[in-house]
Amino acid sequence: MNLVITGANRGIGLELTRQSLAQGDTVHAGTRDPAQAQELTALVGDSGGRLHVHALDVTSDESVRAFAAALTGPVELLINNAGLRTRRDDLEDLSLEDALQMLQVNALGTLRVTRAVLPRLREARGAKIASLSSGLGSIADNTSGGGYGYRMSKAALNMATRSLAQDLRGEGIISVAISPGWVQTDMGGASAPTPVSESAVGLLAVIGRLSLQDSGSYFDFRGERIAW
Ligand code: NDP
Repeated sequence: MNLVITGANRGIGLELTRQSLAQGDTVHAGTRDPAQAQELTALVGDSGGRLHVHALDVTSDESVRAFAAALTGPVELLINNAGLRTRRDDLEDLSLEDALQMLQVNALGTLRVTRAVLPRLREARGAKIASLSSGLGSIADNTSGGGYGYRMSKAALNMATRSLAQDLRGEGIISVAISPGWVQTDMGGASAPTPVSESAVGLLAVIGRLSLQDSGSYFDFRGERIAW
């Protein structure tokens, strides 16, 4: 399988890249600065030519255009993993500039990349778009408040995911939102309960089982549906 993973230099994106390569897939990995992405580029040597590392800033039209132009052949799976969570996100200390940046990366960045990669997804049969959301993007599950910019950005991502599902269903392209759980990464912190390897195994298993009937749904990494 030929797949695209954004934000592949660390955290969940790096682990998804590792596991996809181990499964025999070809990975086009996007990272903001390939020169700084040592852990990612270190995987190239053993990949048998199956790992392609590209510069990709999901907030930049120019960068996204160049990234998409570098892709060749049908893309069976796009994993929109790149994400941002900043501090100062609660009612009293909220930074609106940070909130805007989270919308840029988490919601608009995902849409920007998806639209650019769409011609390649259309070349594949039954391509899948898996966008990494968060339980914090669920309006139904919001019983604790706070996290304004991050929550709003993931709720916006969820809505884009659902519209993509409707718009692309006729072409057989699947679009889902998936939460990776609370994961031990720079974003999730060391006290998170889920090791990154376990989250990535779950995410790839859920993605692997998706059918067109699932398109427009919101899952967690164990395959349970999350209420919007
Ligand atoms: P990390 O903070 O560890 O990694 C984030 C990744 O996104 C990095 O590769 C980062 O690149 C990249 N990124 C940030 N901004 C941009 C940008 N403008 N363009 C391209 N890439 C960018 O996060 P995780 O691995 O933990 O999270 C991955 C996804 O999972 C995110 O979407 C996150 O919101 C979601 N998630 C994570 C949870 C957790 O507990 N960890 C919980 C719920 C959801 P760089 O190194 O250049 O900054």
